[in-house]
Order: sequence, then C-alpha cells, then structure tokens
Amino acid sequence: MKTLVLPPSADTLEYAKELIKAGEVVAFHTETVYGLGADARNDAAVRKIFALKGRPADNPLISHVHSGYDISVLVETPPYTEALRRAFLPGPLTMVYPSKGKVSPAVSCGLPTLSVRVPSSPTAQAFLRAVDVPIAAPSANRSKHVSPVTAQHVLDDFEGDIPLIIDGGASQGGIESTVLDCTGEVPQILRAGLVTREMIASVVGACGIYHMRAGEKPKSPGMAYKHYAPGCRTAFFSADNTEEAVRCYGREKGANGRPYFLAEHAVCERLSGYDCFDLGASPEEMAANLYALLREGERKATLLIGIEPRCRGGVMDGVRNRLLRAFGQSEN
Ligand code: AMP
Ligand code: MG
Repeated sequence: MKTLVLPPSADTLEYAKELIKAGEVVAFHTETVYGLGADARNDAAVRKIFALKGRPADNPLISHVHSGYDISVLVETPPYTEALRRAFLPGPLTMVYPSKGKVSPAVSCGLPTLSVRVPSSPTAQAFLRAVDVPIAAPSANRSKHVSPVTAQHVLDDFEGDIPLIIDGGASQGGIESTVLDCTGEVPQILRAGLVTREMIASVVGACGIYHMRAGEKPKSPGMAYKHYAPGCRTAFFSADNTEEAVRCYGREKGANGRPYFLAEHAVCERLSGYDCFDLGASPEEMAANLYALLREGERKATLLIGIEPRCRGGVMDGVRNRLLRAFGQSEN
C-alpha cells in the first residue's frame, strides 16, 4: 500500500474519515508525538493497531476526542476532574476514568478504566472533529522504538503499512502526555509529562505519583516495558563522570566507530570539539528535542553516549524518565 503524507486540508480530512469508517488506521499530528489512530469502537480496527506496532496485548490505548465531544458518554467523571479538564484541556494531559464500556474492550485490554485525551493540536482537533468518534491511538512508532515527532519519523517506521499520515509539522511538546489516574479520591500520575504534579496539585489541592512496587501488577502496563530505544549501541554516564564518557568516546573512535554525545547544552559547550547532540538548556527544550535527536543519533552514530542532565523536578521528571529508558537505565 502507498502511504500518503498530506496536510490537514478538507480533502485529506474527508479521506481520513472514509478510512476510519472502513476500519483503517490513520497516523496524525498531535502536540506531544504523532498518534496511530483507529475507531475505538471497532474491535478489528483496534487490533490492527496492536499488530502494526507489535504492541504487547496488555498495554492499553488512549482514546482521543475533540474539544466538543461529550466524554460522559464514554466514562464516569468524578467531581474533581471537572476543574482539571477546565485547567488543562485541550492539552497534553490524559485522564484515566472508570469506563462505561462503550468502546472495544481491546482498547483498555480488559481493564475497567478508559483513558481519554483531548489534544490541542489544530491538526488533531480537525481530524477528530471530522470523524466525530473516539480514536484509540498510541504513539505512531514500532513498539519499543523512539516515539515520532515528525511525519517523516512515522514514515520511517510504517511506510507501505498504513494509508495516510496527516502532517501537522513537528510536534512541539516532544514527549508523550502526562497520564493521570482519576479513579481514586486523589489523582495520581502514572506517566510524567508536560503537565506536572505541581500544576495538577495547584488546581485540585493534591496529586500523587505512582511508583510500581516489585512483584506488583502495574497500574499503567505501558510503563513496565522497555521503550524509546534508538537502533544503535548506547552508553550512559552521570554528569559527574564526563571524563569516563570521554574515554568511552575515544575507544569508539579508535575502533573506527562514530560516537556522538547526547547531553544538555552546558555539557555540550564543555565538549566542543567532539560530535555532540545538544538537547538544549531548559527542560522544555530538552522535551522538544529528545526524540528527534535519538532518531538522528541512530542514523548517524554507531555509539550514542548519553550524559544525564543535572536538573530535576517539574517537566524534567518526564524528560528524565524517557531519557533513562532510552538508554536502558532504570529510575530510582
Ligand atoms: P502510548 O500510547 O504509547 O503513549 O502509551 C499509552 C500509555 O497510557 C501507556 O503507558 C498505557 O499503559 C497508559 N494507559 C492507557 N490506558 C490506560 C488505562 N486505562 N489505565 C492505565 N494506564 C493506561
Ligand atoms: Mg508509545
């Protein structure tokens, strides 16, 4: 099949609507990363997403709707969630609610909950308004690979396998949405993102962070899997250990390899003279640059040498989480 990459014109949206009606899968721009979407009510279409990605069958999908969609059709909405929707939607916050069972059970992999997101990207909004049904969509990458932040990244993973990519340019946010469990009395972050714990607590008074305990069934199954891995060898060093990182670089060069550092701006400045991908200076810049640089890294480098950024908290929690997992490190 030929994969078309088209801007969100009226013709494109009409074609996207036909495809979704026919049970096909369509990739689309969002402000976080590109999504791989299908009609959430259609079992076969949802299963197609899992098959295309090679996604484990117990990793649930997020349902995407436009701003005018009445989500009370799909889920129970605990009273405190109203304030969160008003404060952060449309935007990069996914909320997990008790499900009313109106979408395919394959979306939530049998869980009694449903996660719903209202993206702010005008391209995503136009697509979701055109189809006017909940669209189940994970990130549009092969399972475990780096998430896509351009239409080209989606093409790199799925050319010939999907009919359409709705191209809205680069995703500015850069990391996936915050996933917030809203089924308890106090909301709890299952996956860190651009909407931070501090921002959520400032609206509803308190916000927990979920940490999986050893041996426990994870609340957010996706977080248990290896993720975001670039297709080249990797090494990882703390910011206090750049001498060792430089020796590692030298060994790779000596073996006729192409080593690159991936580091925050201040560290790249100190490493001038070496090949270095500059993540940026602020947490927001690092979020926006991370996936594009991991993908550029796997194309250019034989060994990508990550150096841990120093700052912590806020948006950096989400960036660190993705960075450590891309380099096969676990968070403490
Ligand atoms: P992705 O689509 O690749 O961004 O992954 C979606 C993330 O949301 C995964 O980490 C899932 O485990 C999580 N998720 C989706 N639906 C639910 C749900 N109903 N309950 C808990 N986590 C969910
Ligand atoms: Mg993903």
